[in-house]
Amino acid sequence: MSAADLVVIGAGPAGLAAAASAAGLGLATQVLDEQPEPGGQIFREIERVAASHPALFSLLGEDYGAGLELLGRFRASGARHLPRATVWQIDDERRVYYRHAAGAASIQARQVLIATGALERPVPVPGWTLPGVMSCGAAQTLLKSAALVPDGRVVLAGSGPLLLLVAVQLLRAGIRPAAVLETPIQRFAALRHLPRFAAAPGYLNKGLAMLRELRASGVPFRRGVRGLAVSGAGRAEAVRYDWRGRRREQDVDLVLLHQGLAPNLNLALSLRCEHLWDESQRCFRPRLDPWGACSVPGVWIAGDGGGIAGARAAECSGALAALAAACSLGRISKHERDARAKPFLRERERHLAARAFLDTLYRPPAEILAPSEPRTVVCRCEEVTAGEIRRLATEQDCPGPNQMKAFTRCGMGPCQGRLCGLTVTELIAESRNISPAEAGYYRIRPPVKPVTVGDLAELDV
Ligand SMILES: Cc1cc2nc3c(=O)[nH]c(=O)nc-3n(C[C@H](O)[C@H](O)[C@H](O)COP(=O)(O)OP(=O)(O)OC[C@H]3O[C@@H](n4cnc5c(N)ncnc54)[C@H](O)[C@@H]3O)c2cc1C
Repeated sequence: MSAADLVVIGAGPAGLAAAASAAGLGLATQVLDEQPEPGGQIFREIERVAASHPALFSLLGEDYGAGLELLGRFRASGARHLPRATVWQIDDERRVYYRHAAGAASIQARQVLIATGALERPVPVPGWTLPGVMSCGAAQTLLKSAALVPDGRVVLAGSGPLLLLVAVQLLRAGIRPAAVLETPIQRFAALRHLPRFAAAPGYLNKGLAMLRELRASGVPFRRGVRGLAVSGAGRAEAVRYDWRGRRREQDVDLVLLHQGLAPNLNLALSLRCEHLWDESQRCFRPRLDPWGACSVPGVWIAGDGGGIAGARAAECSGALAALAAACSLGRISKHERDARAKPFLRERERHLAARAFLDTLYRPPAEILAPSEPRTVVCRCEEVTAGEIRRLATEQDCPGPNQMKAFTRCGMGPCQGRLCGLTVTELIAESRNISPAEAGYYRIRPPVKPVTVGDLAELDV
């Protein structure tokens, strides 16, 4: 297919729900996703795991298993799915460029849905670039996609639901972490949001169940840990931290870090669509209407890429964007769109009710947002440190991340700022005593993912 009514980028809950709805409404729908199988982060490789690894399937839990129903709907819908297809650009005419097994290609879309999900927030503590340090999400990816578990002394550190979930999944897989170190959380500030959180479907019970499972395991669970640092000669050998008034040190083989999620924005940013600073989630996100329309006509954004809201809300926002795209292509009337949207709008509200509590409780500590140790590497691709960014922000009057790029090359490596963007914004804002919104974010240009000159030369344009 070299043209489609709707091109969906991302095959997570948002993209799958959107594609199933759109195809069901008669739109020629093409899904492009860089992973080998559909499912996104939460339902990664779910069909293969369900078919050939029943023990792994059950240890990954109920939320994971729930994805089979969505995958079934997607498979039955007639939407096309191209795996291992990495999108690097969407142009002004909504032509989508991607790279896949057969080389580089493009597809003309009448409407585009960006459903590229979330990334784990960077956790720039001293030593986070050493071999033997990974993110919790990366460990979970290995578990889901290759049934791989770590061995040796594993320490999980940071905060957020995914930290607890991965700790519990490892325990169920027979891996006993040496410790779980939780950085300070905002219990008192979050309390006022507890009633709405408790009313949101299932969240409180799931959270309490994970805490109980972790506590029952006897794994040391240290809360309120500060001053986290990883050290070692050439690889992670020890983790150091302040806890209960004393500096502690623990020998490790593997450190798994996590400090929440942030929207994966690069494709939306490369389109120059309007973004705003979200203070409660401490990140930028695209400005969207309730259907997922951004400021660029014909482009919709759904799921965690539009703001972190979780898998069920992502599914609802995908279905809503599909209805809106079908309506703007004249496939259904506004009346029909609005009538079909009602259950999804209601369901999304119920899930969004959980956010204020989670966002407040797990707001990342200041020392993670803007690392104080000057030698801490912030931009891993170009090896730019926190000290260098602070010095240039003040001594050279560098006003924002784009000027910082010119001084240091930060954000110019293969990840195109995905791993350092938020930290650079926070460091500049803190050093210049301005808000992150005023400091701004990198001006992202295509290609948003690495592409070779050979790929470009192959393109039939
Ligand atoms: C590492 C990680 C693990 C997580 N694990 C869990 C979990 O176990 N349980 C849970 O409840 N929540 C989990 N979450 C949160 C969860 O991802 C979301 O709440 C939910 O999956 C969001 O759905 P989505 O459709 O918006 O995005 P995702 O599920 O993230 O799907 C986005 C898809 O877009 C694809 N993509 C991104 N960029 C491109 C591109 N340029 N070209 C082509 N494809 C692209 C990705 O490969 C991915 O398949 C996790 C998040 C992360 C980052």
